[in-house]
Amino acid sequence: MQLSHTGYYADYYLYGGAVAGLTISTLATTPIPDWGGWALAYGAGIFSWTFAEYQLHRWILHHVPYVKEMHEAHHHDQKALIGTPGWLSFVLFTLLVFLPAYLIAGFSIGGAFAAGFTFGYLIYITVHHGVHHWRIRPGGYLYRLKHRHALHHHFDDMGNYGVITSFWDRVFRTNIKVRDRREAEAGN
Ligand SMILES: [Zn+2]
Ligand SMILES: [Zn+2]
Repeated sequence: MQLSHTGYYADYYLYGGAVAGLTISTLATTPIPDWGGWALAYGAGIFSWTFAEYQLHRWILHHVPYVKEMHEAHHHDQKALIGTPGWLSFVLFTLLVFLPAYLIAGFSIGGAFAAGFTFGYLIYITVHHGVHHWRIRPGGYLYRLKHRHALHHHFDDMGNYGVITSFWDRVFRTNIKVRDRREAEAGN
C-alpha cells in the first residue's frame, strides 16, 4: 500500500534492529563448538528467503485480490513509496518464521534461521528500493538486478520474479530473455 515517508523508511530501522538483535543474541547463546551449525542455519534462512521472495511475488503479489491491486500500483508508479506496512510484515515474520523455527530448533538455531531469513528480507527491501531510486552504474551485480527487474516491470506477470537473485527464475524457467519475448510478441 501507499506508505508515508516515515512508514516507508521505518522498515530499515525496524528490520535492521531486528536482524542485528537476533543475530547477536542467538550467536551469544550458542556455544562456540556449535557456531558451524549456527552459520548453516543462518545461511539456510537467507536461502529460504530467496525462495519465499520468488513465490510471494509470483503467486501472491500478482494474483491475490487486493494485494494484486497494490502491486499493480507499484508496477505503474515505480518511484511511489509503496510497500508492505512494517507492522504487518513484522507480525507475519514473527508468527510464520520465528515462532515455528524457535519451536522446532530452539532459540540458537531456530533464531539463527529466522535472523538469516529476515536479513534476506532486509536485503530485498534495500535492493528493490535501490533499483528504483538509485543511479547504478552499468557493469556490477546490482546493475544486472536493476536490468532484470526493469524487464519484470515491462513484461509484468511473465517472469523475473526474483529480485535479489535470478536463481529461482532459472529453476522455474521464468527468466525473461529479451530476444525470446520480442519474437513472441512479433508472433514468431
Ligand atoms: Zn519494482
Ligand atoms: Zn511484480
